[in-house]
Amino acid sequence: MNLPFEQASDLLNFAQEKTDGWKMFIGGKWVDSTSGKRFVSYDPSTNQPLAEVPEGNAEDVSKAVEVAKDAFPSWNKLHIDERGVILRRFADKIRNWAETFGMLDALDSGNPYEAMVADAKKGAGLLDFFSGLGMEIKGQTIQTPGGGLNYTRMEAFGVVGRILPFNHPISFAAGKIAAPLVAGNTVVLKPAEQTPLSALLLGKLAEECLPPGVLNIVTGDGPNCGSALVRHPHVYRIAFTGGVETGRRIIQDAGIKTVSLELGGKNPLIIYPDADVKKVAAATVAGMNFSRSQGQSCGSNSRVFVHETQKGEFLKEVISLVKKIKCGMPTNPMIDMGPVISKEHYNRVMSYIESAKEEGAELIIGGRHPLNPELEDGNFIEPTVFSEVKHGMKIEQEEIFGPVMSVLSWNDEEKMLYEVNDVEYGLCANIWTNDVSRALRVSERVEAGYVWVNGHGGKRFKGAPFGGYKNSGIGREHSLDELISYTQIKNINIRYE
Ligand code: NAP
Repeated sequence: MNLPFEQASDLLNFAQEKTDGWKMFIGGKWVDSTSGKRFVSYDPSTNQPLAEVPEGNAEDVSKAVEVAKDAFPSWNKLHIDERGVILRRFADKIRNWAETFGMLDALDSGNPYEAMVADAKKGAGLLDFFSGLGMEIKGQTIQTPGGGLNYTRMEAFGVVGRILPFNHPISFAAGKIAAPLVAGNTVVLKPAEQTPLSALLLGKLAEECLPPGVLNIVTGDGPNCGSALVRHPHVYRIAFTGGVETGRRIIQDAGIKTVSLELGGKNPLIIYPDADVKKVAAATVAGMNFSRSQGQSCGSNSRVFVHETQKGEFLKEVISLVKKIKCGMPTNPMIDMGPVISKEHYNRVMSYIESAKEEGAELIIGGRHPLNPELEDGNFIEPTVFSEVKHGMKIEQEEIFGPVMSVLSWNDEEKMLYEVNDVEYGLCANIWTNDVSRALRVSERVEAGYVWVNGHGGKRFKGAPFGGYKNSGIGREHSLDELISYTQIKNINIRYE
């Protein structure tokens, strides 16, 4: 195990120094907020302050957008291969610092260290992937009446505003700037208020690799800093990952802009009687993401529909697997699960657990703060599973975004499929069966943008479009669709005369 720093304070000092005292990164320079205000980022394992970062407002956002606008023509003029070379170098540097980013995110987000190291590499991998895909930005030639040439060009928008949630900080900061930058846009990035540190440290590597103004990183809260980016008149493309309510707000504020939204999920995992119970139990526990992010992942299979004939055996397996999950300090590489992001979110998750009990669901494991005194001050919640969950209960309908899984049982396929689809979300769905015809038929019936047969939504592949139906979002990522979504079509007519 290669731990990058012996003490958390050494790591924080290192990152503070690299970011010139936790400043924002605008136009290749490290700057304070114009108001001089700062806000605190807390360690969710202890609820103690970790660092103070600038509280950016509309004025700071405007400065970032203007330098990004100035940097756009020369960045966009580079051949796509040249941008690819630069971005691959950037990706290499991120990989070299993967352990450092992983430890910083373990402190700032509460997600386990090893998972965050993997996240840093995943973000770097997306920079490589989109750099390689760049030449797929192509146009069309179109037949014209009476001769001539008509063709299309896929052109960059200019400045892209990228707004991130808290749950996979470095993976999203690095990976979600890849497609817009490859396509020739410049970017203003706003990380979540709870997890700004790794995004700021990423600015140090951007300083070494990218021309000034190509990537700008502003910190601040959503209603001021984020909203100013959404409303800014020189930003015509907004890409947002976060909750449904914020997504609605962004659509209202954006006006005439191209907006993509990656929103929440309440993802079903359906178990047919022919599925191997041991395998499906293991996939269910893995796909709930107890271990990578305390269930704080949009793709978690938080609603499990098990056939009533397997319910007993399935629950027994699930309990034995969940018992093995070790809750602990996320900086300790030996643990599986850390705290949820904030005290406020802890209380929210706990209130869902209470509501489930009140509505008659049966708590079969977890549901409380771990008893370990070392974890007393943090936002830790044991991995929690409810059985006897009924369709329509609050925990079955609403995205909890925490370590709480609901198990429903079924015996009537039509009724079960109705319940599977009767939620506002439509991100992922998972189907477990060995019957190929059934797998194909049910894949078509589920209302979800990303379907696994005999797998779970935690497993994603570069190139496979990811995104949601219904209120889970607009647009697709991780694929050519994402790259193309950062371009707009220009049609050109030429007469031969
Ligand atoms: P959130 O509360 O919606 O916040 C996301 C980002 O939006 C933050 O940077 C936030 O800023 C900012 N924001 C808030 N209000 C804003 C406004 N009026 N205008 C512009 N920006 C605004 O989401 P979260 O709690 O961080 O993340 C959890 C949600 O993200 C879950 O619903 C999860 O399912 C979803 N998610 C979806 C995907 C996917 O791929 N579909 C992936 C990951 C997460 P501050 O936090 O700084 O205030």
